[in-house]
Amino acid sequence: MYTGLDSSRLIIIYMGANSLFKVVYMETPDKKQIVIPGEEIATIEEYSPGKNVFQDAGDGLIKSKKVGRLRLDVKTHVAEVESMKIHKNVLTKNEVVYAVVERFEDPIAVLRIIYSESKKTPIVPSVTGILHVANASNSRVRYLSDVFGYGDIVRAYVVEEGGPPFYLSTRGRQFGVIVAKCPKCMSSMRKRGIVLYCPQCGYKTKNKKISLYYLLK
Ligand SMILES: [Zn+2]
Repeated sequence: MYTGLDSSRLIIIYMGANSLFKVVYMETPDKKQIVIPGEEIATIEEYSPGKNVFQDAGDGLIKSKKVGRLRLDVKTHVAEVESMKIHKNVLTKNEVVYAVVERFEDPIAVLRIIYSESKKTPIVPSVTGILHVANASNSRVRYLSDVFGYGDIVRAYVVEEGGPPFYLSTRGRQFGVIVAKCPKCMSSMRKRGIVLYCPQCGYKTKNKKISLYYLLK
C-alpha cells in the first residue's frame, strides 16, 4: 500500500496481485472505501452478501460486482456496494491522469490509464494511453526506457481530443513518475533528493523523469 499527496489531497494507491492497480481517494464525502468488480470485501463468516456483491464459488469470499462505495454494516452484518457512476471512457484535452507503463515500442510507450485526477475518479475499465518520446520531457530524451520503467505509475496529461488510445505528455515538472518499480526486484522505489532508491535491494537511479508529486519519500 502506498500513501501520498496527490496535489492537495491524500490518496492511497493499492497494488494487488497480477499488477492490478487501484486508486482510492479519501475525499469522498462519506470517506467510504471504493471497490472494484471482483475485489474481495469480506468473508462469509463475518458478513452476509447484500446489494451488488456475490459469494465467490471458488474461494467462498464475498466480492464486489460493481465499482462503488463499500458498506459494511456492523450491526446487521450485511456487506454491500453502493454503485457509483462509472467514468465514461472519454478523456478531454489537458485532463490529468495516472497511468501505468506497460511496454516500450520505440519511439512510444504504451500505458494503462487508471485514474483521472481532474475528475477525481478511477477509470474502470482502464484505457490505453500512448506516450511519444518527444512528449516525455522538456529536456531531450533519447529512449523512453531511459526515463521510465515497466510498472511505473506516471502522472501525465492528455495532449489531444479523441481516443482510446489517448495521447499523453509528461512534459513539465509536475508530470512524470509518481511511483517507480525497482528494475531488479520490482519493489517500489523511494525518493531521496533527486535519486530514487530501492529499500529492498539498494538499487539506485537518477535518470528517471520524476514528478514533483512522487509519492514515496
Ligand atoms: Zn530492488
